[in-house]
Parts: sequence; C-alpha cells; structure tokens
Amino acid sequence: MAFFREQIKKGIIDVVRKKRSSDWRKVRKAFIKANNVCACCGREKGLEVHHIEDFSTSPHLELEWGNLITLCGKYCHFIFGHLMNWQSINPDIRKDAENFFEKKQNRRE
Ligand SMILES: [Zn+2]
Ligand SMILES: [Zn+2]
Repeated sequence: MAFFREQIKKGIIDVVRKKRSSDWRKVRKAFIKANNVCACCGREKGLEVHHIEDFSTSPHLELEWGNLITLCGKYCHFIFGHLMNWQSINPDIRKDAENFFEKKQNRRE
C-alpha cells in the first residue's frame, strides 16, 4: 500500500477525482424541479440529472443548466445518456432524447 500511496502523492496515479462543487445538490434539485420529466421517455419517477459534457472532461460546466438534461434512472440515463457504458457519453443526447420522446408519444397502442 505504501507504494501506491507514494505514486498517488507524486501524481503518477490519479485516483483523486476533482471534487464536485458544494452547490451541485442545490443546482440538481432546482433543475429537476424545473425539468420534472425524463427528456427521453417522460417518466416522472427516479429522475437523475445527466451532464451532457462529462464532469471529468468539463468540470467548469458542472453547474451550467445548458449542460444538463433530466433522464430517468430506470432506463434512459444509462441507455441514452451513456450508451450503456458509464465510461461513455452520448454527444447527441439532446437530439436522441427529442426523437425518442416524440416516437414514444406517437407510438401505436
Ligand atoms: Zn426515461
Ligand atoms: Zn450521466
């Protein structure tokens, strides 16, 4: 363990992610209140706020409403927001959400 601690201290291994802003909880809550359905499927439960540009690459956009979109934790955050891999990010999320939302609204029953 001492070996790893040494490497981390020297910055050779970067395990310490940049800290999230202390305002994130507040921003997240306000954003969900204003955007209270999943942008893809319209669900109203289990909502999460997704960063269109990921926090790890664009930490300065963490609290920007223009960089946020409400997605449900049941399906859409993982599938549409992250293309079924949390390491990945969907650059077309807004367009895909709009398309899918409309498709679902107009589906044949
Ligand atoms: Zn959804
Ligand atoms: Zn996300």
